[in-house]
Amino acid sequence: MKVLKFGGTSLGDWERFSQVASILTDEAAQGRIAAVLSAPATITNSLIAAIDNATKGQSVQAIVEHIDTVFNHLLSGASPVLGEALESEFKVRFAHQLGQWQQKLKGIELLGYCPDEVQADFVVGGERMSAALMEVLLKAKGVQAGQLDPKQVFLAQGGILESAVDIQASRERAQNIDLNANQAWIMPGFCAANDEGQTVLLGRNGSDYSAAALAASLGASQCEIWTDVDGVYNVDPRLVNNAKLMSKLSYQEAMELSYFGAKVLHPKTITPIAQYHIPCVIKNTFNPSAPGSVVSRETDGSEAVKAISNLDNMTMIDVAGPGMKGMVGMASRVFAAISNAGVSVSLITQSSSEYSVSFCVASNDAKTAQDALERAFELELKNEFLEPIRLKSGLSIVSLIGDGMKTRKGIAAKFLNAIAAAGANLVALAQGSSERSISAVVNQQQVKNVLVASHRCFFDDSHDIDVLLVGAGNIGKELLEQIKGQQQVLAKQKIRMRLCAVTNSSKMHLDEQGIDLESWQDELAASEQAADLTKLRAWISDAQLRNPVLVDCTSNDAVAQTYPDFMAAGAHVVTPNKKANTGSLGYYQKLRHAALVNKRQFLYETTVGAGLPVIDNLKKLVAAGDELHKFNGILSGSLSYIFGELEAGMSLSEATKIARDKGFTEPDPRDDLSGMDVARKVLILAREAGFNLEIDDINIEGVLPDNFDATGSVEEFMQRLPELDAWMADMIASAKQEGKVLRYVGEIDEQGCKVGIAKVAADEPLFSVKGGENALAFYSRYYQPLPFVLRGYGAGGAVTAAGVFADVLRTANWTREVTQ
Ligand code: ADP
Ligand code: ASP
Ligand code: MG
Repeated sequence: MKVLKFGGTSLGDWERFSQVASILTDEAAQGRIAAVLSAPATITNSLIAAIDNATKGQSVQAIVEHIDTVFNHLLSGASPVLGEALESEFKVRFAHQLGQWQQKLKGIELLGYCPDEVQADFVVGGERMSAALMEVLLKAKGVQAGQLDPKQVFLAQGGILESAVDIQASRERAQNIDLNANQAWIMPGFCAANDEGQTVLLGRNGSDYSAAALAASLGASQCEIWTDVDGVYNVDPRLVNNAKLMSKLSYQEAMELSYFGAKVLHPKTITPIAQYHIPCVIKNTFNPSAPGSVVSRETDGSEAVKAISNLDNMTMIDVAGPGMKGMVGMASRVFAAISNAGVSVSLITQSSSEYSVSFCVASNDAKTAQDALERAFELELKNEFLEPIRLKSGLSIVSLIGDGMKTRKGIAAKFLNAIAAAGANLVALAQGSSERSISAVVNQQQVKNVLVASHRCFFDDSHDIDVLLVGAGNIGKELLEQIKGQQQVLAKQKIRMRLCAVTNSSKMHLDEQGIDLESWQDELAASEQAADLTKLRAWISDAQLRNPVLVDCTSNDAVAQTYPDFMAAGAHVVTPNKKANTGSLGYYQKLRHAALVNKRQFLYETTVGAGLPVIDNLKKLVAAGDELHKFNGILSGSLSYIFGELEAGMSLSEATKIARDKGFTEPDPRDDLSGMDVARKVLILAREAGFNLEIDDINIEGVLPDNFDATGSVEEFMQRLPELDAWMADMIASAKQEGKVLRYVGEIDEQGCKVGIAKVAADEPLFSVKGGENALAFYSRYYQPLPFVLRGYGAGGAVTAAGVFADVLRTANWTREVTQ
């Protein structure tokens, strides 16, 4: 005999109901079965709401109509299968039930009160109607089906609305039933009878427990819980996107999981089946071929933490005061009062001074618990041995569960870190002595964040990089292309790089799940959100980004001023923008301080030498105790190109025009020719090497002589430029006579820093550098007389974007642990 239970979600409409009928027909063909059914989804809630309304004298009409409609829809779906006789058999039963519901509601309204025994009998009508319809449907399909009365099988004890089945007594009762009489038995779930023969309920969601109790009472070979998901997930799949399905779990693990809130199983389900070693399989009605999750004596011990659950709507009650201290029996009086009030306690913590004891109860029970405590400790409260009983509501208990936890160290520490990373406050923490669960109490508003962060922490070993791109121009676009092209390679290295925000100068588009790298431009264009870096910063916490990286691909000073705030908000900063590092020395130092205190990376490799690894190497040298004595270098790809062409005989105006046409210069070539760009790079290098300089300390000689009129529009300027051709040709020729070439060079030495045109001799490293190449020669304590030289192509968006990409990748294992 096998017991199969189908929940309300599997019976909510005709399509589902008939799917269940097919599964049962197939199963019954293979062996004798007992099916336990819930009421169709929404029905139990509606019945309870109807009682509630009637008690308050409010209309129940809409609710009753809803219930009527649900069953009528089911019936009209079933009608073609049923045939006249069976259809009218069900119609009579339903009409009778509906009549009873309506009659009882009138009585409740008159009384203004609904006794528990009336409520129990009223509410199980939903289950009874499910079972009645399934019975006729199976008969119509030729299955030898009949009903099993839960009141006849189960003897239960406890409160009328929340009873527990006496399995031993029920097993004896079951002996009297001739199970051979039917091939498929149908039993309404959720209810039983007490020793007075009254209908009692097994608690909300109690049909799972009915099935388990029936499996134990009949000595079934297997108990199957059919629902709307593929099995038991390691976290509530409604709250965490990438919840993992568990194929095997032990009875104890399943028990802790359901006890601490996993709705997929009612908390009392496991005890009876564990006692008789009956395996329990959780299966999906809508995907019957999926294997499901097996709960048995076996578990797969691969992971210490198997699952995370959450129990919401909790209230924490504090009993505290000097009277608690060292007083024997205080705790037992507290819990005796609570248990006598019929309230169940989910978690207890006690301070070591015994000054206070705190525990969690369901918020529905909080008032009852408080009243019970105030009665039990009336005297102590009056004499101020106890402080007034304090209640804190709106809480959730998040629990880690796993048989293997007791043998591992550091799990609680990791858990606390995840809670902090979620930005949540820890209200209380408790570990059961079984070490099979650790529970943390947090504010319910933060429960989703805590679950997501904990799930990541225990079940996800990939490195996240959440890119927030500011500036979607040449370099920004190229960077996104490169990131798109590398996704597979990154995935192999367990790096999950997502674009979570992109802004241009007017708009921004944010998506914590990651923006599609194919369509980001359209999405940005369609976005209705104005670009706002303050909002972007605040969003980092709201969106729970794990490893945010601000990538500033603008050359904007205002953006550069926001870096410390972004670092404080938990973001790394990566940028080819030179403005931040060439602002005031005070700001330069502030940035480094912000990176240090916030434990964030500030990376700007591409500010000097485009893709060449300049900054990183210089940092390493300095960190290892080297000292920069002298530096010279060609630091501008555009000027490197122009001076190469001059050397080959081209005029200044022509070389500039071609460089501009090829996109090697800034849109306004004066920005390159002024020497300012090179001066900024020299300043960055000098500061990196430990010189405390300002931009004004750099002696800048532009390419253009002072007496040349460089004003007006770009076109006007370009038209006037040929006036300098002869002057430049003379300089080139005179250098050539000395066996030298002209280069635009940045220099650092003991006299200071300067940038300008220099004559370079054939034996110097910069002699052969042209055509867009960069070269940097560092003369230092360790590197002399021959310098440490870096040389390579240094112009264009692609090589710069690749350098930015490399910086972004360096943040991969710098995931945030604690944000605030
Ligand atoms: P039924 O009507 O079949 O009794 P329930 O709604 O009571 O269904 O329980 C199934 C639901 O439990 C699933 O739809 C799922 O959203 C939720 N759930 C919560 N936690 C878990 C978990 N850890 N694993 C699987 N499902 C879970
Ligand atoms: N129908 C009942 C409820 O909704 C029992 C169950 O479905 O398990 O609580
Ligand atoms: Mg359920």
